[in-house]
Amino acid sequence: MKVAVDQDKCVGSGQCVLAADDVFDQRDEDGIVTLLDADPPAQRLADVRHAAVVCPALAITVEE
Ligand code: SF4
Repeated sequence: MKVAVDQDKCVGSGQCVLAADDVFDQRDEDGIVTLLDADPPAQRLADVRHAAVVCPALAITVEE
């Protein structure tokens, strides 16, 4: 699985971290998303997809 985030779109809501805190994190200074794992294992797909769906900025893309 390939995950990408667009920090220019991110509004720092943190929904992605709630969904998958092993894949996404937020910068301490402004809450903007950072990617902890750009190639998570397949068993994380459901949670990573959920993060992409709930992201209010549509800043997360997932390719299987
Ligand atoms: S859910 Fe979207 S807007 Fe919120 S922190 Fe994550 S990437 Fe940024």
